[in-house]
Amino acid sequence: MRVRVLTIFPELFEPFLSTSLIGKAREKDLLDVRVFDLRQFTEDRHRSVDDEPYGGGGGMVMTAPPWIRAVRMVAEGGNPWRVLLSPQGARLDDARVRELAARAAESGIVLLCGRYEGIDERVRQTVVDEEISIGDYVLSGGELPAMVLIEALSRQVPGVVGLADSVANDSFRGGLLDYPHYTRPPVVEGLAVPAVLTSGDHAAIRRWRESEALRATRAKRPDLLERPEVAAALTREQRRELEKGAGREETERLPAQPALVKSR
Ligand code: SAM
Repeated sequence: MRVRVLTIFPELFEPFLSTSLIGKAREKDLLDVRVFDLRQFTEDRHRSVDDEPYGGGGGMVMTAPPWIRAVRMVAEGGNPWRVLLSPQGARLDDARVRELAARAAESGIVLLCGRYEGIDERVRQTVVDEEISIGDYVLSGGELPAMVLIEALSRQVPGVVGLADSVANDSFRGGLLDYPHYTRPPVVEGLAVPAVLTSGDHAAIRRWRESEALRATRAKRPDLLERPEVAAALTREQRRELEKGAGREETERLPAQPALVKSR
């Protein structure tokens, strides 16, 4: 997957791109990420990238020409999907990550990281295919959102995450949240691992996990169950459980909650 990033703070990306799964994916050439300093694409002596806003008001606005030159140059004659990170964009979610990953795998992706009051509107109009937001709050720059996106996209590249299964079972895949996970030691603060997980009965473990995924979703994100495609994908047991459990207090059913309260 080819990713090109445009920013005035390329140094922010260095540790991120050389650590953990992303670092390994780059070493294995599964991920080809290059970060460009927008100032390389300026033409004045001071390498300026911002100016006062037309119409007055506070703050500075990033000027259009370096962005337009940069986006065209890093496309390297190809036709990459060009994403402006912006709080005004479509909110990033799992479905959009998958869509973007498919586009990035096909033709590469260019990420534009704004700063200051934002970027001159004509950049969006001329060299941007889509605006993406990582949530309804405002950060000081698009660099962290770009890293969020790169990490989410990289998990879609076969071979980046060791077991394809762990991505397939992640929260939101199949519409539900992930089931709870446990590892050694067997007892923590008086809370034992659910017996089924040490039973060796794989069918029972699968059923338990399906049931716990449903419980977690009901307790933490009941809105997901309102989605028709999620409701349609439930197994017969999950549907039965949903009907049975209607009206129960959700948090009481989550094994992780008492541990959190106790440790405070
Ligand atoms: N004045 C802009 C507005 O209210 O829409 C916000 C500009 S913000 C201070 C500077 C840059 O941070 C933006 O151009 C964008 O690249 C990035 N940014 C801030 N919040 C973001 C978010 N929630 N998602 C994606 N990018 C964001």
